[in-house]
Amino acid sequence: MKHYLYLIKDILLNALFPLTCPACEMENQSFEKGFCPDCFKKINFIKEPLCNICGAPFNYETNSLMVCEKCIKNRPYFDKARAVFLYDNFSKQMILNFKHGDATYNAKFFAKIMFNSYKKLIKDCDVIIPVPLHKARLLKRKYNQAGLISKHLAKLSNKVFLPLALNRKKNTLSQGHFDENERLKNIENAFEIKNNKDIIDKNIALIDDVFTTGATVNECAKILIENGAKSVFVITLAKTKFNQNQPIKIEDYEDDYC
Ligand SMILES: [Zn+2]
Ligand SMILES: [Zn+2]
Repeated sequence: MKHYLYLIKDILLNALFPLTCPACEMENQSFEKGFCPDCFKKINFIKEPLCNICGAPFNYETNSLMVCEKCIKNRPYFDKARAVFLYDNFSKQMILNFKHGDATYNAKFFAKIMFNSYKKLIKDCDVIIPVPLHKARLLKRKYNQAGLISKHLAKLSNKVFLPLALNRKKNTLSQGHFDENERLKNIENAFEIKNNKDIIDKNIALIDDVFTTGATVNECAKILIENGAKSVFVITLAKTKFNQNQPIKIEDYEDDYC
């Protein structure tokens, strides 16, 4: 029931404040790309060149398809991961307000910016699945931020929305203070699929708010692939800055992995 109340609040706030800046909440009718001019300057949009798999930005120009060292050492289960902007101090505040501060009315805008940034990728998918929260956390938070974005994204792209396809069976500790190995261990076997009929042979767009080490989305992708999904494309709102590794030409690594 509470979930529906939040959806109603979301609809009402969207009607009342159709054009407020999602970062500072200033009202205006002519913001470029949805942000007010001051916030627009502060947002670090992720630009190419990127790792062709995980989407980590490289610091230097290249004109061929490159893959980062991390993806070569441990090839992820997802085909590609892409994010709209960097997860830095500025975007962090905006996302925390959305995640924990009940700023759910921003879900529609976030979906729109993700759709506009990765239209082709989303159009190539069949279904949209959010990274789920555990039941206990959902009760506490009252909404799943990834679910709200996914719902709007499905509407924009005319794709099937499967909010319950993945189930989080393990109430994992927050990943925030863990290093990469601890994150992997913490998230291992955290998800399950009770019924795989809707995902068999499907290209899946897996949605989350932030991509940090990729441990969570990779664990979701693993279970989706193991249960018959054809491919998984991860799309998140933000991505943490990448530890700069040497990129390697995709043609050089294809032989080892394909
Ligand atoms: Zn602003
Ligand atoms: Zn990579």
